[in-house]
Amino acid sequence: MRHIGVLALQGDFREHLTALARLGVCTTAVRSPAELSQLDGLVIPGGESTVIDRLARSYGLTDPLRELIASGVPVYGSCAGMIMLADRIENPAISATGRVQESFGGIDMTVRRNAFGRQVDSFESSLKFNGIELDAVFIRAPEAVQIGPTVQVLCSVPAQLPGFHDRIVAVRQGNLLATSFHPEVSGSNAIHEFFINMTRGDA
Ligand code: GLN
Repeated sequence: MRHIGVLALQGDFREHLTALARLGVCTTAVRSPAELSQLDGLVIPGGESTVIDRLARSYGLTDPLRELIASGVPVYGSCAGMIMLADRIENPAISATGRVQESFGGIDMTVRRNAFGRQVDSFESSLKFNGIELDAVFIRAPEAVQIGPTVQVLCSVPAQLPGFHDRIVAVRQGNLLATSFHPEVSGSNAIHEFFINMTRGDA
């Protein structure tokens, strides 16, 4: 049985644990470096990337997570998790002490936080992912505004205005997968199934 961890520092990790358990994988809520060993995959949930960054550092998880990502273990980041997997954040938060928000990195892309507006601008959209139609929920979602040559675009939403580019909302680079939206909220299994297949080497 596949064993998938969900980073459980902040955000909607419970919904991911439920979605994964429903699909028959063994799950662990990860809060310590020791819990990263023996995993076939890891999910970084949505939430607030500034808080995930801060808590990961105080739990001593930042470097172990960077090592896990670099080791090739499949990692999936949703929303704030997508921000955490980006090599570059276009508009990082800066704390009162002047510290600039950091990501774990891994995917050669620049993300813009809150690219679709604020909480009140949250929306649901029907998207095609891997040939499957799914309902995608966007909550203060990021967008990939620049991607490197090895990054594959899996989903984009059409530009609102003529002459503008479609907006990239799901990407893959090797064993790393990221979506701007929250599949664990809409009840659609397609993304989790795709990720589980990635951990098997089948996707
Ligand atoms: N805007 C949030 C951030 O910067 C992400 C929102 C979400 O995960 N729903 O982390």
